[in-house]
Amino acid sequence: MTEAREPGLDDSAAARAGAILTIDLEAIKDNYRRLRQEIRPVTCAAVIKADAYGLGAARVAPVLAKAGARTFFTATLDEAATVQASLEKTRPSADIFVLNGTGAGPVEAFTALGVTPVLNSLGEVETWTTAAGDAGHTLPAALHVDTGMNRLGLPHGELETLIAEPDRLAGIELRYIMSHLACAEEPGHELNGTQLRLFEEARARLPAAPGSLVNSSGIFLGADYHFDLARPGAALFGVNPTPDRPNPMSQVVRLQGRILQVRQIDAPQSVGYGATHRVSGGSRVATVALGYADGFLRSLSNRASAWIGDRRVPVIGRVSMDLITLDVTGVPAGDAHVGGLVDLIGPDQDVDTLAGAAGTIGYEILTSLGARYHRVFLGG
Ligand SMILES: *Cc1c(COP(=O)(O)O)cnc(C)c1O
Repeated sequence: MTEAREPGLDDSAAARAGAILTIDLEAIKDNYRRLRQEIRPVTCAAVIKADAYGLGAARVAPVLAKAGARTFFTATLDEAATVQASLEKTRPSADIFVLNGTGAGPVEAFTALGVTPVLNSLGEVETWTTAAGDAGHTLPAALHVDTGMNRLGLPHGELETLIAEPDRLAGIELRYIMSHLACAEEPGHELNGTQLRLFEEARARLPAAPGSLVNSSGIFLGADYHFDLARPGAALFGVNPTPDRPNPMSQVVRLQGRILQVRQIDAPQSVGYGATHRVSGGSRVATVALGYADGFLRSLSNRASAWIGDRRVPVIGRVSMDLITLDVTGVPAGDAHVGGLVDLIGPDQDVDTLAGAAGTIGYEILTSLGARYHRVFLGG
């Protein structure tokens, strides 16, 4: 039975919502401290783009601030504004960096909010020096140099131009020089060492500034990679940063669905859209109230498992918009009953395992988590 009464859970609201997403804010704090310990004495930032990987930036940012974080990264300017508003009480002096750079919004919005762009090209450098000139004082920024990701950051040619003409940075207070690893979760990948070398070379030739290279997985590549600031995101939220080893992080998310119906099937039949799964006579099928509209990906059809107590039950047939079906033939009727809860993400099946069944990564499972869940926050 999984009908645990979670602290703070409003039963009627939970029942109306159908599925319950419990987010353990204490586990997020533990994870932040665990990562900070790993890189000591280097500073540990927190990347909370995409609404803190789907968990709710306004709730998560103050919790990370309480655990000691003072530097935050978002992707967009709107996200930065949300984070800043949420930190008004706990950390009004937080440093908030916008990864998407000055392209993420008008320069006046950055200066009005007091958030800092990550400059990703010579054009963005120029935009920011112009803004500093207009303001009549220096403006802070991080400078992103590309070392092999080929996504954001100054490409090689632009980096050479900037090194040859450092006056292009006039008026910019260079807070960090940063880059981003493409293969950090594969410790044996040769690109890691290549990017490290290119990053060291770039820093040696640019005006002096603190360095920042690693994401969650990069932290576990060793101290050579740490520089002055680490930028973990996913590991804070329980995703395994070391996929080839046991997960050093605490689980943050529990997802429970509610059983709407249990049906006895007397003769062989198919279940769900497309009749993709057949059950034999004598089977029992439980229908649970969540589906792909909630971020329970359709690619989990016939591939995922759910847990009822300590019993694994397969998801059978297609995941539909609002419903999934489980084969509960082996589960005692007292455990698989209408109104009962089943675990989709929880102690027996972590985010990474569910992601594996969907052919994706934990990041996508988290950032897909839907808006319909009854959300319960533990601790904080
Ligand atoms: C998303 C992102 C991070 C955080 O990556 P995780 O793998 O979630 O730790 C760090 N740096 C940059 C530039 C990013 O885009």
